[in-house]
This record gives sequence, C-alpha cells and structure tokens, in this order.
Amino acid sequence: MKTKLVKVQQIEDCSMQMKEAAELIRRGEVVAFPTETVYGLGGNGLLEEAVHKIYEAKGRPSDNPLILHVCDMAMTESLVQEIPETARKAMDYFWPGPMTVILPKAEKVPSCVTGGLSTVAVRMPAHKTALRLIQEAKVPIAAPSANTSGRPSPTKAEHVMEDLDGRIPMILDGGAVKVGVESTIVDFSEAVPVILRPGRITKMELEKVIGCPVRMNTAFLGKDNGVPKAPGMKYKHYAPKADMTIVLGERKAVIAKINCLAVKQKELGNRVGVICTDETVEEYTADDVVSVGRRCNMETVTAKLYDVLRGFDHKDVDIIYSEGFEEEPLSEAVMNRLVKAAGHKIIRI
Ligand code: AMP
Ligand code: MG
Repeated sequence: MKTKLVKVQQIEDCSMQMKEAAELIRRGEVVAFPTETVYGLGGNGLLEEAVHKIYEAKGRPSDNPLILHVCDMAMTESLVQEIPETARKAMDYFWPGPMTVILPKAEKVPSCVTGGLSTVAVRMPAHKTALRLIQEAKVPIAAPSANTSGRPSPTKAEHVMEDLDGRIPMILDGGAVKVGVESTIVDFSEAVPVILRPGRITKMELEKVIGCPVRMNTAFLGKDNGVPKAPGMKYKHYAPKADMTIVLGERKAVIAKINCLAVKQKELGNRVGVICTDETVEEYTADDVVSVGRRCNMETVTAKLYDVLRGFDHKDVDIIYSEGFEEEPLSEAVMNRLVKAAGHKIIRI
C-alpha cells in the first residue's frame, strides 16, 4: 500500500484533503493525524473492521483498549452511560485538551475498542486538524498513538512514516506536536477518581478543578483483582537499542557520576550517549550529549522527549545515561516514560 503524506499546516487551506481523510475513516480505513499530545492512528470507533485495522497496523495486542476521540459533548454522551459531576467538571475545564476520561461504556461501543472492558476511554483533543477530522467523519475516532507497538510515540509526521509507511493509506502532517507525551488518563468509574497514566495535566491541577482528592496509580502494573486497570500498563514499553540508565540526585553529583561512568565505559570500549538538559549540556564529556529541553520549563522536555529517544536509535552508542527529574512540574509524566525506556534501571546518589 502506498502511504500518502498530506501537509495540513493551515487547516483552512486543506478542506479537500480533510474531506478525503474523513471519507477514508468513514469507509473503515485508518488515517494518522496530529493531536496536541502525540500523533494518533485513527479509525471509525464504532466499526469493528476499522478497529481491527488499527491493531493490525500497529501490531498492538487486542486486549490493550483504544481511546475514542470526540469533537463535542453530544458525541461524548452517546458513548457513555452517565457522566458523574466530577468528570463533568474536569471535562468542562480541560477539554478540548490532554485529558482522557474512563467511564462506563454505552452499549453501542464495540467491545473490541475497550478490550472487552465495561468502561470506555474518551478524549476531546485540542488540535484543529484532529477536531476537524472528527467533525467531518461524524463518528468518534478510535486512535492509539501512531507508532509500531513498543516504539516511542510519534511527535512528528516523520516518526509516523518511520513506523507505518506502506501500512496505512494516509498521514496528515501537522508538524511537530505541542505537548509530546500522551494524555493524562483519569478513571472516573470509581468513587475516588484515579490517574491511570500521568500526562500534561497534573494531579494537583485536576484536584483543584474538581474539588476533591484524586488517587495516583503508582504501580506500573495497576492490577485490581487480577484485572489491570489500564491494560496498556502490562505491556513492555519502548527500550532504546542502547542500554539506558537514569541517574537521580543533586545536580552536581549527577553530572560527576555520569562523567565518571562514561569514562569507565569508554575504557571498556563502549560509546556513550548522555540525555541531559540545556542547563547542564556543557558539563558532559561523553561521545554524544543531547539536551532534552530546559529543566526550568518542563514543557520543552515533554515536547522533545520521544524525539530524543528515537534519535538515539540512529546513533552509534552502546550505553545511554540520562538525567532524571524529581522536583520539577511534570516530572511524573516525564519519568513515567523515561523509567520504562530505561527498563527501570536507576542509580540514586
Ligand atoms: P494509547 O492509545 O497508546 O495512548 O494507549 C491508551 C491507553 O489507554 C492504554 O494504556 C490503555 O490501557 C488505556 N485505556 C483505554 N481504555 C481504557 C479503559 N476502558 N480502562 C482503562 N484504561 C484504558
Ligand atoms: Mg501508545
């Protein structure tokens, strides 16, 4: 299959292309499109055949459920049984935006979308192209990240091409995304809302808006009576080709430790990469030193994280040391992805 790459920087100039993409979705095909978090691989969320195509193109296990993307509240209401007051407050405030809500599903939501669960994940993305695509398709769009399962989520159309060229008919290229990490997933099907995956919207922001405590699911395997709460959590996540370790601690000590480890690795004949920040990038002496953004502005870090991780797969390094994040806002979202990439290898000093 030939994959058509369509640039949609100015949505106003692209109504023909958007109609074509929406038509593909309505027909049961899949289309990759930009959202503010990461690129999604979208298909008609009410059509089993389309949902199967998504799983197939990504190589995703079919019990790892998908998020349904909506363009308005009427569409949301049609997909769920009821919306509790807390969830409604959160949606009013954060939508369109990088928050996914989990609620008991309406009957019409096919069970292949929810991996057989009785709940469904719904999100209204804050991206003109995504919203227009859903409006034109007139159906909720089921969309996981548009990467091959197990690779870092795509934050540029080039990343989608890298993984899915020849496997899907169309990619809408909206340039680099803004947020760069996947949505915060909040389970509102429980009495106390639970964050199942950290993202751009933090626990504190959420609690302030809904006016009640929120629980953070800290376990990577969020099992509850043997059923994983966010089924995606049980799957192996992206690990770079090079062996990666995170070093946590006071800034000067971390720099000294990483430089010392790098010297030792070089003596062993290994090439060493370092993932650091703008504040420290001049301090390292490894073979390949890459800044992931500004520590004083963590949104620059979420935006660049996956691009930096993907970049290392094209570089000639055997070992990667990465600075960690603890005190900064959005540390939870960043560390959630970094720790998985490092296969939980952390040195604390
Ligand atoms: P992705 O599409 O790659 O952003 O992954 C979607 C995430 O949402 C996965 O980790 C899923 O496990 C999670 N998810 C989707 N639907 C549900 C649901 N009904 N209950 C809990 N987690 C869900
Ligand atoms: Mg994903």
